Amino acid sequence: MVIIRVALDVPIDRLFDYLAPDADTADIGRCVRVPFSSRQISGIIISVCETSSVPEGKLKYAGQIDRQTPPLPQPLLGLFEFCSRYYHHPIGQVVMNGLPVLLRKFKHTGKEQPPSWRLTDTGKSITLADLPIRAKAKRQLISLLSEHGIITAEICKAMSSHSRKLLHEFKDLGWVEQFTALPEKAVFSTASSPAPTAEQAQAISEILDRTGTFTPWLLNGITGSGKTEVYLQVTASLLAQQKQVLILVPEINLTPQLEAVFRKRFPGTTLVSLHSGLNNSERLQGWLQAQRGKAGIVLGTRLAIFTPMPELSLIIVDEEQDHSFKQQDGLRYSARDLAIYRARQANIPVILGSATPSLESYHQARTGRYRLLQLHSRAISQAALPTIRCIDLRVIPAQEGLSEPVLDALRHCLARKQQSLVFINRRGYSPVLLCKSCRWIATCKRCSSRLVVHLRDRQLRCHYCGDQQPVSPACPQCGDPDVLPFGHGTQRVEAALIRHFPEARILRVDRDSIRHKGAWQQMLDRIHRGEADILVGTQLLAKGHDFPNLALVCALNADASLYSTDFRAEEHLFAQLIQVAGRAGRANVPGSVLIQTEFPQHPLYQALIRQDYAAYAQAHLKERRSAGFPPFVYLAVLRAEAPVLTDALEFLRQAAALAAVTENYPHIQLFDPVPAHMTRLKGLERAQLLIQARSRRHLQTFLGDWHQRITALPVHSRIRWHLDVDPLTL
Ligand code: ADP
Ligand code: ZN
Ligand code: ZN
Repeated sequence: MVIIRVALDVPIDRLFDYLAPDADTADIGRCVRVPFSSRQISGIIISVCETSSVPEGKLKYAGQIDRQTPPLPQPLLGLFEFCSRYYHHPIGQVVMNGLPVLLRKFKHTGKEQPPSWRLTDTGKSITLADLPIRAKAKRQLISLLSEHGIITAEICKAMSSHSRKLLHEFKDLGWVEQFTALPEKAVFSTASSPAPTAEQAQAISEILDRTGTFTPWLLNGITGSGKTEVYLQVTASLLAQQKQVLILVPEINLTPQLEAVFRKRFPGTTLVSLHSGLNNSERLQGWLQAQRGKAGIVLGTRLAIFTPMPELSLIIVDEEQDHSFKQQDGLRYSARDLAIYRARQANIPVILGSATPSLESYHQARTGRYRLLQLHSRAISQAALPTIRCIDLRVIPAQEGLSEPVLDALRHCLARKQQSLVFINRRGYSPVLLCKSCRWIATCKRCSSRLVVHLRDRQLRCHYCGDQQPVSPACPQCGDPDVLPFGHGTQRVEAALIRHFPEARILRVDRDSIRHKGAWQQMLDRIHRGEADILVGTQLLAKGHDFPNLALVCALNADASLYSTDFRAEEHLFAQLIQVAGRAGRANVPGSVLIQTEFPQHPLYQALIRQDYAAYAQAHLKERRSAGFPPFVYLAVLRAEAPVLTDALEFLRQAAALAAVTENYPHIQLFDPVPAHMTRLKGLERAQLLIQARSRRHLQTFLGDWHQRITALPVHSRIRWHLDVDPLTL
């Protein structure tokens, strides 16, 4: 009896057995259609065996096995299994989460993209003189080929069938050949690499010395130190050995930039870019190219960690501290942490790069588990680090969010025709609508949040659930018509700047202004062409961009995260301010940074002024240690939501009662269930229960056991719950 054990996309954490007489071990990792509660669904074969715990009469027959697509390789299956175990998420859902939709649905044909055409060396020697004058179509085709070098699959599709037939004739003559998926124009660019600085050279050679062994590197380089160049040169060396490199980047907005840099440097290499902006068939094509080893480079956001790459020899995680590497719903995995696992599994190096590493990674480097590489100086010698200064708002008050020194500095920049950036991490016009007489504040009906004023559309909008309503003309509580926007968002600052500098070209960049497709790219182009004098933007503008003419950065409302309940808020703020400061003075324009604050003496700002990440990190790690936060303890959160808060809390109490912590798990600490910080979200009440442990191993052993017991609890359908391992926020 041949039985296949299949991972199915259902919320039950086990494999499902089916009879499959024609299956053998070569089918492990293949997609199969199977009957499941009166429908046919597809799954992945995880193992093939001879016996099952299901009584024989009850076993059903599996349907068709997809043998056109190469099976998922064993290491990828291993990664899925680890991920399921570590995050306590059903194996089938982990597998399906990691696969391209078309593969999941069994819908693709397994065919590759039609190949493109290019001239062979013989073909290149053919001139129009070699062809008869009347052979018009042939002459056209040759001109086309010699002009563009290639005919892409798309162009080919658009050509007449006659021309396509001619291409095949040319092929028989040995004039042209077919090839798959090469980058567009990049083929013809001749990018050469700059000589590395001494620090870069050191980093590159250390990394290359240890290829082929599991080595986690923390590349801690200040902004503009040329971390990208280190990635590029290490990648070059591995590509030369026909290896594959996986690069993870924080979010889709940054992908095109880094992608362009890599394409330009490696014109002959197939680069597959995987991000959420792709359609299903593009994603599948890229994925298959990676799996077949044809893509030398895979560059993508967190999901790309699940790309099969048989020749994988290096993983790079750029801006490793970024929160977008952790998925916040469904399978709550950290792509950065999985990158470490995957590197260990494949016995290869992994580079975590950042100017401001997460305290977790920094701690690992300080204690010797990761190797630390530091770049202390900027790669371009003229590009000095910007000077950072605090403006004490207690002494120099701000008008409409802008203090006089900030206005002065902006004026100065305008006069010198340099760009400036006003950074305020809050979109909308103002974060609060307030009644002056009774202190009423507009709040969301579905969430415990305040509604943000969007004055241009005259709407109040909830930034959590998206609900909106018109701005009230009077206070609904006392009837006073004197309801006023309170505080500042990007739109309000933009309006104030327009009043102050009517002659300046002001460009607002936030999620509202880039909502339309292509808007983001257009804005970046405008900035690069120098068509904007003052940029007003949120964190969208803080990351990774290289604006050569940007000389001034002003941060307006940084204090907001200083005394937050979120234990990571400070770390996040420090990273963000270093990043945004790093935008200033990247080429030959010296940069300066002004930070408006009411707490200029705060240690965070003091370290920031000195741009001393290490000092900041060490001080903050000390605080974490004494307060008992990661990386000194390991956390998990059990969250529950229900229409009524007491139901959610009651469920957590029942779950806690199952834990038997004191007898069996003395190293585990369970806290009392409490309402979540944002208690109400999208109409549901949320509560949580924190679990803390001294070691990852203790935590995992406990969670494995406990999670099973909770799963067995009879839970009312009103209640939804999940477990979040290594949560980012509490
Ligand atoms: P980071 O990512 O560390 O902030 P980048 O990789 O963006 O820094 O590099 C900053 C600038 O320095 C870029 O314009 C880059 O082209 C340039 N650069 C990097 N390395 C070198 C080098 N060795 N020689 C000359 N320019 C370099
Ligand atoms: Zn009122
Ligand atoms: Zn809401």
